Amino acid sequence: MPNYDVIIIGAGSVGIPTSFFLAKEKIKVLVIDELPSAGQGQNKAAIGGVRATHSDPAKIQTCQLSLNVFSKWKEEYGDDIHFQRGGYCFPAYTEEHEKSLKDLLVIQKKYGLNIDWLDAEDIVKLLTGINPKGLRGGTYSPEDGNLSPLLAAQAFYRQAKKWGATFKFQEKVTEVEKQNGSGIKVKTNKGTYATEKVVNAAGANAQEVGKIMGVDLPVFPDSHEGGVTEPVKQFFNPMVVDIREFPGSKNFYFYQEVEGHIIFCLTPQPIIPGVNRNSTSEFLPQAARRLIHLFPRLRNIRVRRVWRGLYPMTPDGVPIVDQIKDLDGYYVAVGFCGQGLMLGPGIALNLVSLITKGKPVLPEEIFKSYSLYRDYSRPSEALK
Ligand SMILES: Cc1cc2nc3c(=O)[nH]c(=O)nc-3n(C[C@H](O)[C@H](O)[C@H](O)COP(=O)(O)OP(=O)(O)OC[C@H]3O[C@@H](n4cnc5c(N)ncnc54)[C@H](O)[C@@H]3O)c2cc1C
Repeated sequence: MPNYDVIIIGAGSVGIPTSFFLAKEKIKVLVIDELPSAGQGQNKAAIGGVRATHSDPAKIQTCQLSLNVFSKWKEEYGDDIHFQRGGYCFPAYTEEHEKSLKDLLVIQKKYGLNIDWLDAEDIVKLLTGINPKGLRGGTYSPEDGNLSPLLAAQAFYRQAKKWGATFKFQEKVTEVEKQNGSGIKVKTNKGTYATEKVVNAAGANAQEVGKIMGVDLPVFPDSHEGGVTEPVKQFFNPMVVDIREFPGSKNFYFYQEVEGHIIFCLTPQPIIPGVNRNSTSEFLPQAARRLIHLFPRLRNIRVRRVWRGLYPMTPDGVPIVDQIKDLDGYYVAVGFCGQGLMLGPGIALNLVSLITKGKPVLPEEIFKSYSLYRDYSRPSEALK
């Protein structure tokens, strides 16, 4: 039976970077995915936003690590993952939103984030063509950015293989069994592998894989849709997040990627629980209305394609990254909600440290936000 130090279940936004950093540490790692190639789960549904501007300290610090990896990737490994440091901008059109964004600045600055309040005139300069009617200003964090989730997954995958990681595709993990003494057996529909440690990084399937591992994981997928327009000459850089509520939706966010396409996404209201990934007929009219409302100059742009994917949600909107109690060698890295791409490399670095040194890279006080054993009834993060 082939023997590994670590087996990762899931070659997605989190599993692939984790395999890369493990392989770099000379750990013998196997990644198993039921889909035909890397990043084919929810990774490829992501629109590409990467920011450290959260309200939860663990997410802030994890995404700072991720941004550091993404921003240096081309220089260090040669692949262009279309990373742009375009920043994030949250424009405010109501007094209530101005207040909540300004309140958040306090904690964001405390954790060293480069973010500030810009008045309406500066927002208009930053976002050429934004609707100025009622605009009060907004926050802007120039160090956040965006990239191509597909190129990033491929880049991590290629480098992981170069450093010795093994990947098995089109294999579904069906059983995880603790052996008498030490060691774990991982069974798939095609074979059986032995390992010392196993990581559940199964995204939207986290709960099902959790059951196989004998642990109950509160991860409940809901669906979100995205779309992409034809390319036009670059005229704005930041990811724009409109936090107003419109009929059928909450946040609406979009940016212009390096080749000029505008990529957009919205948070449906009410949420749509479940795993259905068929595009709805409501999404495009809702998103188009919001895009034109905010940027009237885009009224003639053509949409090329839409898609629907899943957010693997937890009850408090915070991921679960932990070791399972009483099951030596069992790890979980799941529940990444709408932020798995941006959290991926930062979580991977922490997980590798947890696996090899028994403690995360972040201070343990901060990292315990991700504990499987936390109180999930605390208020969820304001800005998803
Ligand atoms: C429309 C949309 C836009 C988004 N935009 C962003 C964004 O801008 N920025 C951002 O950070 N995030 C974004 N996200 C969220 C992001 O896509 C997810 O949080 C992230 O992909 C989750 O990563 P993961 O590694 O947990 O799961 P995945 O990337 O889905 O990887 C899990 C893998 O596990 C495999 N698997 C599951 N069960 C098994 C099994 N039993 N055996 C073998 N393999 C198995 C799956 O096939 C899958 O490949 C967006 C999501 C959507 C839907």
